Amino acid sequence: MKNFIIRMVAANIQKINDEISNRAKLIAVSKTKPVETILEAYQAGQRIFGENKVQEMVAKQIALPKDIEWHLIGHLQSNKVKYIAPFVAMIHSVDSYKLLEIINKEAQKNKRIIKCLLQIFIAHEESKFGMDRTEVLELLNNPALKVLDSIEICGVMGMASNTDDLVQIRNEFRGLKQLFTELKNTFFLNQSSFREISMGMSSDYKIALEEGSTLIRVGSLIFGER
Ligand SMILES: *Cc1c(COP(=O)(O)O)cnc(C)c1O
Repeated sequence: MKNFIIRMVAANIQKINDEISNRAKLIAVSKTKPVETILEAYQAGQRIFGENKVQEMVAKQIALPKDIEWHLIGHLQSNKVKYIAPFVAMIHSVDSYKLLEIINKEAQKNKRIIKCLLQIFIAHEESKFGMDRTEVLELLNNPALKVLDSIEICGVMGMASNTDDLVQIRNEFRGLKQLFTELKNTFFLNQSSFREISMGMSSDYKIALEEGSTLIRVGSLIFGER
């Protein structure tokens, strides 16, 4: 049974990577999965993992190889930034200037520069986190942003609606790409590090890739249902 699962995880990763074919990077979303399962993906060559809870990510980071790149993809409370600041590779869920300030402070304490994505609300649903266009423009127009030199804003992240309407999903991803381009042209034209569009999960990553995703976040398709 165990060997079967190992081969399954490895085969799933291989299949997704073939589909990506260098258009984007694969973030293996390992939330709720035990370290043994993550190790199977690691042994298959996967090095980027995504978690949505701080405590869970910290526990796994301690237990697993240190060359893993940990991406926080879930909502982040200000008072928990300090636990991940020593190691986190990228935070996808920045949704306020205040949070950015705190990430900057904790990054500085650790003598690191932490990569961040601005989470944008693109779904037609109540429950999803993120900023709208007005809020993100306000954040980027804040003159105090310039002094935050221990963070690097690398792009945007969004989650499409949980719907079977593929046209709607595609339109939401297309809107995120458009906003990315607008922000790039307005605020980051000379900053090559502003280049990431984190969009696409198990159910919609193929559409996301077609719409210009650079980071897909896939969980259940690799590790099975949670
Ligand atoms: C859980 C999660 C994913 C992965 O979802 P799957 O449907 O299992 O691929 C991607 N992004 C975020 C923000 C998540 O919380």
